[in-house]
Parts: sequence; structure tokens; C-alpha cells
Amino acid sequence: MTGACVADLEVDLMVLGAGSGGVRAARLAAQRGVRVAVAEMAATGGTCVNVGCIPKKLYSIAAHYAEAFAEAPGFGWPPSSPVLDWERLKVRRKAEISRLNGVYEGLLEGSGVSLLRGRARLLSPHEVGVDSLDDGSTITVKAAHVLVATGGHPIHLAIPGCDHAVVSDQMFDLPTFPKRLTVVGAGYIACEMASIFHGLGAEVTQLIRGDSLLRGFDADIGRFLAVEMRKKGVDLRFGRKPAALGHSDAGLHVHLDDGSMLGADTVLMATGRGPNTHGLGLAEIGVEMRPNGSVKVDARGASNLPSIHAVGDVTDGPQLTPVALAQAGVVVDRLFGDGKRSFDPTLIPTAVFTHPNVGTIGLAEEAARARHGRLQIFRSEFRPLKHTLSDSDERSMMKLVVDAASDKVVGLHMVGAEAGEIVQGFAVAMGMGATKAQFDATLGIHPTMAEELVTMRTPISTD
Ligand code: FAD
Ligand code: NDP
Repeated sequence: MTGACVADLEVDLMVLGAGSGGVRAARLAAQRGVRVAVAEMAATGGTCVNVGCIPKKLYSIAAHYAEAFAEAPGFGWPPSSPVLDWERLKVRRKAEISRLNGVYEGLLEGSGVSLLRGRARLLSPHEVGVDSLDDGSTITVKAAHVLVATGGHPIHLAIPGCDHAVVSDQMFDLPTFPKRLTVVGAGYIACEMASIFHGLGAEVTQLIRGDSLLRGFDADIGRFLAVEMRKKGVDLRFGRKPAALGHSDAGLHVHLDDGSMLGADTVLMATGRGPNTHGLGLAEIGVEMRPNGSVKVDARGASNLPSIHAVGDVTDGPQLTPVALAQAGVVVDRLFGDGKRSFDPTLIPTAVFTHPNVGTIGLAEEAARARHGRLQIFRSEFRPLKHTLSDSDERSMMKLVVDAASDKVVGLHMVGAEAGEIVQGFAVAMGMGATKAQFDATLGIHPTMAEELVTMRTPISTD
């Protein structure tokens, strides 16, 4: 270990950020008996717990109740039109998140990890300063290894009046529930927030600069989801961007690039996230960075400096909690274990909690064609049993992309209720290299939606 300063603390692993990746790495390392400290400048649990997966899913569940109330008369329940108590939902969410913050702190404490409250920065490849946000004092930590797990932040679109807009962090605690919400973007956050807030009772307009939702997913997903979201009442405007935002007593004005104007109570910019590396001192100590400011690491989380490692949203990989967790496991195993641990970045299951949900794993048809050539495509679109009585016109879609040469299922995509729950199970089979013949040999569970994935027999295309 190098460094001339007298450190307040000396550890084997210093983790920057107590979010998904940081907490997992700290706990796994501490369980191996090494000395670990974590610096955190905000609430423990990071994005996922505080302003990401968890509050988002809770609000999605809240929004699904609205559908259930509307559909219940079809099943014999008397009609009712409950109105959302936004204040109560916020209070209930806050209490659950506080409980989770405590769970995370308990997990760190229980594993013997030192939690240092403050903003961390690199002083040298083996020294970290943690500046207290309360009294400005600094703790210096000497570390054999430093893991950067500082996550990311929402990127604001730089247009005139953009200060009037909010980002996803603020959506969970809006002081007043927006009657009219404009969402900018077509990625995970934009589509989820548009669906959720529409479900909770807002009139939602979504501005999409391109011609599809969820670019990068199988094109069928984007097309099908757009139809379903529109049927539910989300006003999707393709090929539209905001040019400027203004406000008056009547609320916000969204000036669009075609010269038209929209009124809104809240405008959400959901136009991507950038890495939290500003002020960390990484470039100053010689860590190679990518042009977008993320830490350049290899597949095992190693930077160009032997003592600096990074996982999660601060790197350039997929921004998903299970990915940050898996990367943390790989880094800790490489540093303190036998170094055999890895994960397959080409088979990442993921769900988008739109209404209806999207679930997917493996290759989109377009990417599969480029990689494998001849494909067999199986696709089914149907009205779920529930909606035969609910009076809802929601439909579901399932699709398998099969490599014709090997018969392997290389892509599985669906839009429909509980898509994430369904795809999670199929992800095991896909990870084992399941073939279409093995899907066909699997008995369905009747009557479910998921059985469709093992009963599609006739390809819609074979080229
Ligand atoms: P984070 O969890 O963000 O943790 C980074 C931590 O570092 C933070 O606590 C931060 O305060 C701290 N930090 C930053 N700088 C410093 C510093 N200088 N000193 C000390 N501490 C610092 N993923 C899913 O898999 N499923 C979902 O459903 C899902 N939903 C999402 C919904 C939203 C609205 C958002 C925004 C994200 C969602 N994600 C979801 C993505 C997921 O939240 C992230 O991929 C994941 O949290 C990344 O973990 P991380 O460890 O890299 O960073
Ligand atoms: P995404 O990268 O998913 O989407 C960004 C969206 O913003 C795209 O639709 C993009 O359009 C649009 N956009 C970018 N720049 C502009 C611009 N200048 N003008 C107009 N539109 C623009 O980012 P998100 O912010 O939605 O989410 C960040 C990440 O967080 C996700 O990628 C995902 O990994 C993670 N996440 C995961 C969730 C889950 O697992 N369920 C939920 C929420 C977030 P275009 O398509 O044309 O590029």
C-alpha cells in the first residue's frame, strides 16, 4: 500500500456508494473476513431502494388497483369509483423505504462493515477522503482496493425553461398529484412513469422523439406496447420533442418542436441517466474514463489501475439492479476469492413495469438475425382469460426467436400481466440453452398465460 498521509482508518476494501452494487460487494467481502468500509452520502440502498425499482413498483401496484376497480363489475362486484389518496400513498411508501434503509444499514452492520456517512473522493489510488455533509470534517481511509459504486443520475434535457421540469427522483414525492402530466422520452422510465401515473389518474401525454417505444427491445414489443398504452388512454406523440417550457397561472406550457403547445401540471424528463463520477477524482489519479464520464472497466470490473474497480450504473453496462449485484459478486470473488465467478451479459432478463408489463430475455429478432442468420419466429397474440369478463380490451403478446440451425431459443419476449414473473422462470431454461423442442416437450400449466410459451407450434416465419 502506498500513501504518505496518516489515515483515520485502514481497510482491505473501500466501497464508494451504499447502493445495490456497493452494499452487495461490501457484504460479500466482509463475509470473507476482509476489512471493509463503505462511504454513503445519501440514504442507504441507493437508487433502487430510494427512487428506483422499489417505489416505482409500489406505485405500479397502486395503479393496478385502479384497473381492478374498473374491471370488478364484470365479475359481479358492484361498480365503485375510488379516488386515489396521493398523500396517503406517499406516506405509506416513505415508511416502507425507511424500513428498507434500516434493513440495509443492519445488513452492513451485521457483516462488520464500517459505514462512513459523507461524500467520498479519491486522494490517490489507495486513499479515499470522506467529507462529512454535516460539519465538513474529513475522514481519510487507506485501502488496498477501492470499489467505485456511485451509481448514476437523471440527465435533464437542456432546453429553455427546463428548470420547470422534474426528473424521476422527484416523481415519487410530487407535492400535488398532477392532473396533466407530460413525459419526455421512450425508454424504461418514460414508459413506466407514463403508465403508472395514467393508472393513478393523471392525463398523460408522452413525447417520443423517434418512431417507437423502448428502442433496443424487439421491435414487436415497442409496437404492441404502443397500441396497448394508447388503448388505456396514454396520449403517445411520436416524432415529437419539447422545444421549450414556460409557465403561467394556468400551469406549465410545453412548446413542441412543431410549433404547437401542450398544457401540463408536471413535465417529466426521462431522457436517460449519466454516471456519478463528477468530483470523485478518478481521472486525476489516472483512472481511464469513457467519453460519457463512466468508469472504463473490463468484464470483471477492473479499471486500468490495479487498485480501482467499478460496478453498476457508474460503468457503461446495462443499468439494472441484478446486473450491479452480479458485477459486485464477480469483483469480490476476483479480489478475495478464487476468481471463478462470472455472469453472462448476453442473457439478462428484464421487465418494464408498464401497464401491461413487458418481459424479455435474449436477443431481439433483428439482433438474432444478424447473429444467427436463419430464424424461426413463433408469435401469439391473445385476449387473456381474465379480460373475457372484465370488459377490458387489453391483449397480450408472446414471441419466441429460435435459431433455425441449433433449435435454441435465443430470444423470448412478451407483453402482458406479470411478464417479469413469467420471464424470470424461463430465464433459467434459456441460461441452460433450452431448445424449442424442449419448450414443446414441457407441459403447460392450464389455464395460465405462460402456457402459451410452451404451446406455440407453428412458426409465423422461417427465414
Ligand atoms: P446506486 O444504487 O444508485 O447506488 C449508488 C450510491 O452511491 C447512492 O446511494 C449514492 O448516494 C452514492 N454516492 C454517489 N456518489 C457518492 C460519493 N461521492 N460518495 C458517497 N456516496 C456516493 N433496475 C431494475 O433492475 N429494476 C427496476 O425495476 C428498476 N427500476 C428503476 C426505476 C427508476 C426510476 C430508476 C431511476 C432506476 C431503476 N432501475 C431498475 C435501475 C437500478 O435502480 C440501478 O441500476 C441500480 O440501483 C444501480 O445500482 P448501483 O449500485 O450502480 O448504484
Ligand atoms: P433510457 O436510456 O432507457 O431511455 C432514454 C430515453 O430518452 C430514450 O427513449 C431516448 O430516445 C430519449 N432521449 C434521449 N435523449 C433525448 C433527447 N435529447 N430528446 C428526446 N428524447 C431523448 O433511459 P431512462 O432514463 O428511461 O432509464 C435509465 C436506465 O435505468 C434504463 O436504461 C434502465 O437500464 C434503468 N431502468 C430500469 C428499469 C427496469 O428495470 N424496469 C426501470 C427504470 C429504469 P431514443 O429511444 O430515441 O434514444
